[in-house]
Amino acid sequence: MADPVLRVDVAVIGGGPVGGLLASVLARAGVAVAVVEAAPPAALGRAGSDARAIAVSYTSRKVIAGAGAWEAMAPEAGAIQEIRVTDSASPLFLHYDHQEIGDHPLGWIVPNPTIRRSVLEQLTASPGAHLLAPARVERLERLAGRVEIELKDGRRIEAALVVAADGRASATRESAGIAVTRRAYDESAIVCTMTHELPHRGIAHERFLPAGPFAILPLAGNRSGIVWTEPHERAAAICNQDDDAFRAELAERVGGFLGPIGLEGARFHHPLSLHLAQSMIAPRLALVGDAAHGMHPIAGQGMNMGIRDVAALAEVIVDARRLGLDPGAPQVLERYQRWRRFDTMLMLGLTDGLDRLFSNDIPPLRLARRLGLAAINQLPDVKRFFMRHAMGLAGELPRLLRGEKL
Ligand SMILES: Cc1cc2nc3c(=O)[nH]c(=O)nc-3n(C[C@H](O)[C@H](O)[C@H](O)COP(=O)(O)OP(=O)(O)OC[C@H]3O[C@@H](n4cnc5c(N)ncnc54)[C@H](O)[C@@H]3O)c2cc1C
Repeated sequence: MADPVLRVDVAVIGGGPVGGLLASVLARAGVAVAVVEAAPPAALGRAGSDARAIAVSYTSRKVIAGAGAWEAMAPEAGAIQEIRVTDSASPLFLHYDHQEIGDHPLGWIVPNPTIRRSVLEQLTASPGAHLLAPARVERLERLAGRVEIELKDGRRIEAALVVAADGRASATRESAGIAVTRRAYDESAIVCTMTHELPHRGIAHERFLPAGPFAILPLAGNRSGIVWTEPHERAAAICNQDDDAFRAELAERVGGFLGPIGLEGARFHHPLSLHLAQSMIAPRLALVGDAAHGMHPIAGQGMNMGIRDVAALAEVIVDARRLGLDPGAPQVLERYQRWRRFDTMLMLGLTDGLDRLFSNDIPPLRLARRLGLAAINQLPDVKRFFMRHAMGLAGELPRLLRGEKL
């Protein structure tokens, strides 16, 4: 008779982009993984279910490729060749060109449903990875030597380690009693996909308008992702207009440089907030992605930080197994937390600081930041420092972020 308990090394709760990637890279390295995902697989990554265009950093792409999921995403990914940052209508701007750093793009813009779908396809194709979806946890017990999980449908899993990858409202994190520091912004981000007659030439635009940041992000073809920040009520009102009124308001903000514009698919608005779990680990538990941290999308770094978690956690797990150690042992998890904590806090502080600085319309501050942008533009070393951070090249990089095998 078959063993009614699914025995794996790692159980991942949440099969979103971060949990799915973690499971795929682990399975490829010979680690047995089970993923428990609440949504039915067909709903994950359904076109039109989400209009977020995700800026995937240069190093995140290496992790995605290491999981075997980049090939399916590539046709829908737009390469970022340049980034232009401006403050309202000021002519002073900060300009990043990929040629200043190498002969590769600064990053790629990929629709979120494409990321989810490609990651999921790769996960289901990986021998050694078991996707249980739709499924929910009924009981999760972290014991001295193992984790026992019972699902609502009666299926049971036993693992050495459980990973919370169940997003910002993580029930796994809550059940472990890990406290969360939060800050709600008074802003929502409107996201949609815009079509345009003229090519974007791979240029991403970040404009700091009085209501908040406004980004035009180059997708594949003559299409761009929009991230448009406004106070909550105004964002809802803008989104709820009919298509013609919405397009007219969008066209006013974009300006005429891309020719006549159109809309593709639905638009959404997301209330923005920052959150940070006070610990990324607990006995036999590790937190990754939005379950561990969430930030303002001003620098397009939320998922990239989750992918950095994946690279670090996968490496400590695989190294532990090679040494014959228990992958859920405290010293293994502490190595993960030490590796990720500082980088996470730095990026949360940076994105929060940027939002505070640019959401302020006090004239001396406005002048100072315009001069600041112009000054950074003249300082190649400072510019390179920011660019390396945005591309994910700063700090001690795990093997997957360097494009090496686990
Ligand atoms: C407007 C906006 C723009 C953004 N732009 C960027 C960008 O340009 N670049 C970037 O890097 N990041 C960006 N982000 C952040 C990025 O979207 C998130 O960081 C990322 O989606 C988090 O992925 P995740 O897998 O951790 O969580 P999620 O995507 O939330 O996935 C969690 C998964 O867990 C499942 N789940 C939830 N609860 C349970 C449960 N109890 N049991 C089982 N499964 C469960 C869910 O169904 C889901 O599949 C942006 C965010 C916003 C709001």
